[in-house]
Amino acid sequence: MNRDINIKATRINCFRQSKVDGIFMLQMRVPGGMVDAKYLEMIQYMAKTWGDGNFHFGTRQTFDIPGIKYDDIPAVNAYIENYIKEVDAEMCDVDMNKIAGEPAEWDPSSGYPTIGARNITACIGNYHCICGNINTFELARKLEKIIFPSHYHIKINIAGCPNDCNKAHLCDFGIIGTYKFDYHPERCIGCGLCAKKCEHGATRVLSLDEGTAKILKDPCCCVGCGECARACPTSAWQRHPEPLYRVILGGRTGRQTPRLGKMFLNWASEDVIIAVLKNWQKFSAWVMDYKPEYLHGGHLIDRAGYKKFKEIMLDGVELNPECMVAEDIFWNETEYRSNFNVKPIEMHHHAGPQD
Ligand code: SF4
Ligand code: SF4
Ligand code: SF4
Repeated sequence: MNRDINIKATRINCFRQSKVDGIFMLQMRVPGGMVDAKYLEMIQYMAKTWGDGNFHFGTRQTFDIPGIKYDDIPAVNAYIENYIKEVDAEMCDVDMNKIAGEPAEWDPSSGYPTIGARNITACIGNYHCICGNINTFELARKLEKIIFPSHYHIKINIAGCPNDCNKAHLCDFGIIGTYKFDYHPERCIGCGLCAKKCEHGATRVLSLDEGTAKILKDPCCCVGCGECARACPTSAWQRHPEPLYRVILGGRTGRQTPRLGKMFLNWASEDVIIAVLKNWQKFSAWVMDYKPEYLHGGHLIDRAGYKKFKEIMLDGVELNPECMVAEDIFWNETEYRSNFNVKPIEMHHHAGPQD
């Protein structure tokens, strides 16, 4: 049956249109990809009652329930009231009565008020992973209330260490947990394990001085992964008390101009990350002349230019002493639009003498 459905309104309500008329998929936020397992019973009930019986792990770590009929959306929204209250309002301290910081009364039985700011994804981080430098989902829960609810689009990915399993390089704002380390030569027995680890698994900045049997470090490009400290049998490498963060900016997939993000901040403190992100709404509003439209965060950065982005995002932010900021960013998009490098072989330029 054909009907007049406001697709935009259902999308903002986090119900995504399917290829079948009148059938939608609900996407439920799971900030940082971690919630109490008790909610899985609820997901099962919803999938069996209103969905098609299946469940999908959303690519942005949402609970996705396909096969929901348009007429059932009000019942589904009423059912997820407690989930939204417990996960967003209580666990993440989100003020549901504001949109992008402006008062907007929320009807708790009406489901999600916005879809703009996408679910913050995270790897398991140091909650489980031996490489993890930070608790990724706790950071996600702190950031959730800064970016949600908002009609302005932003994708944030958090990775617990520079391995970047969660692909911080492929989103608007990728956050990577790092540490700085101090070397204590008096504890070092010159085994060279840290240098081997750095050589094989990181950036090859350590070497063993054969004369002194102590470690030399090229300060150019340590990524703060901590492989050296994990390998050291004598704790000669010591972590600083607090983690620091790298922010990778403007990465994306998509049909037009996919690209890897580039480094925006290095060695930023948690306070700096939070203060910078608090300026995201202001930046987005300015770029779009205070009229939100469906435009991905990376494209807003392109539209404003990195220099303007930097000016607004760092406004009022007090940087920690170690923090470094990219002076400029040189993006490198895939050239789908121009097909600059992709053409029939007979059109390729030839080197050397031609017939
Ligand atoms: S990014 Fe690091 S902390 Fe996260 S899962 Fe991968 S190795 Fe572990
Ligand atoms: S923290 Fe730095 S020195 Fe240590 S392994 Fe990683 S890149 Fe190398
Ligand atoms: S692993 Fe530790 S003890 Fe061995 S060389 Fe490195 S710092 Fe020294």
